[in-house]
Formats: sequence, structure tokens, C-alpha cells
Amino acid sequence: MNMVSPGIYFADANASFDDAKFIICGVPFDRTTSYRAGARMAPNAIRQASYNFETYLFEHDIDLSDVPMNDMGNVEECGSSEEMVDTVRGIVKKIVKADKFPVFMGGEHTTTIPIVEAFDDIAVISIDAHLDYRESYLGMKYSHACVTRRIAEHVGVENVLVFGVRSISAEEKSDKMPQYVDAFTICEIGAERAFEKALGTVRKKRIFLTLDIDGIDPAFAPGTGTPEPFGLSPMEVKKCISMIGGRLVGFDVTEVSPPYDEGNTAALAARMMREVIAVAWKNMK
Ligand code: MN
Ligand code: MN
Repeated sequence: MNMVSPGIYFADANASFDDAKFIICGVPFDRTTSYRAGARMAPNAIRQASYNFETYLFEHDIDLSDVPMNDMGNVEECGSSEEMVDTVRGIVKKIVKADKFPVFMGGEHTTTIPIVEAFDDIAVISIDAHLDYRESYLGMKYSHACVTRRIAEHVGVENVLVFGVRSISAEEKSDKMPQYVDAFTICEIGAERAFEKALGTVRKKRIFLTLDIDGIDPAFAPGTGTPEPFGLSPMEVKKCISMIGGRLVGFDVTEVSPPYDEGNTAALAARMMREVIAVAWKNMK
């Protein structure tokens, strides 16, 4: 099914696809990245970084070695965005149909579009420095600058929330926009209160969370394609994950760029994946 073995698998992902509840998968795609490429190397760098951590997450009292997870490997490198979108949508449909929880690693943020398209009746929360709401960018509809727009076309703009925004272009402002909470408001009232308020307005019960790693401040996550100051802290994002809790149905982390990383960004991405899996598993039990 267009999969390539990564050589190294995500730590503790020892279950078969059929036995697993969580399905990990990498999408090494960065063809539309506008500023600095490299996100295609992220899945394997994140896998490597995942061995840094204890299997036991004491604050959740969850041992990830007890959680049934499978690492499918990487989606074969795709020539065009359209090809990537078709391939990934097919894979995620299979995961969702089998009642499993997808945990994906980009690639650039464009890789989130087909993941969301594989779901019905969900809301999407995007943690991102950017609104990503352009109609098209450099002539492309499937671009990392258009992610929120494509997602809104699938789930409805009223079911999209972007958290941590500090970069909006004039052309994005002129349209009917998704709900967003900017980083300056978050700083003013506190991340926890800001997220609680915003989460309260999300009407769909089931939520897909997409983490564009540039939503987190470049001081913590420097290895990314388009770094943007004034970001969230990792601890604030950890709190957001816990607040979504049992409503989580899937997760992905995107825009990690190993060529610009000393390893911290990949480690942070791996730890966030482990956090989501622990929180979702705790709520399933
Ligand atoms: Mn993005
Ligand atoms: Mn971004």
C-alpha cells in the first residue's frame, strides 16, 4: 500500500496493525514548502528521538509499552501534492474504518489535508503560528499556506479553530475566516483560560488535533520551515492536549525540519505524540 520501511520504528510501537489501537505513520513530503525545506526528513528524525523517553508517563500513570501501537512506516515519496493527498487519504480511511486512532508525522502541513478528509463529522483544532487560510498559494491549492482553507471546505469553517496565531496575511483577512485565538490574547489571559473558552465553542464532539510545530515558540522548536516569534510554550500545548482529552480522534505533528534542528524539535514532536497517545488511551479505558 505505497509504504516504505523507515528502518527504525517509533519507540514502543510493537503491535501489529490489526491488534493496534494507535496507528503511527510518516508522510515525508515537503514539495510546497516556501521558505526552507527539510520536513520530509522529519518522520525518521522523530522516530529516532522517540527512544529518548521512558515508556512510563508518571503524570498519567500510563506505560506506553502496554498501549497497542503500530508504526506503518512512511508513505512512499510522492511526486505531486495531488498524488500525496490521494495516497494519504486512502491510508487514513482504512485506519478510521478499522476504528483506530491515527497519529501522523509530516512532512509539511499540507499532509494534514487528506488526513482530515478521511474523517466524517469532526471538528479540527490547529495549533499554528499561521492561519494557513489562503485560497491558493504560488498557484497551488494543496499548499502548506492553504491547509486551514482546505480543511474548512471539508468539515465546515464553523468547525475549525486555530490556536496560537501570530501571522495573518491581508488576503486571508478579507474572507470568511475560521475562529482563531491569537498569541497576544493568549499571553494576555493565559493559555489555559484562552483554550478553555475556545474549546467550549467547538460543537462537534470528536476533535482532530493538528500541531504545526511552528505554533510553539522557535526558542523551543527552532527546527521548522517558517519560524515565527511570540509562540506557545510546550507546557501550554501539553495542557491543551489534556483539555481535549476524550474528544480526541486523531493527531498529527507537521513542519519539523531536521536540517535546522539540533534535535530538540524532533524530541518535542516525539514527546507530543506520546502525550496524545497517553491522554487518548487514558480516556478510552
Ligand atoms: Mn501550518
Ligand atoms: Mn505554521
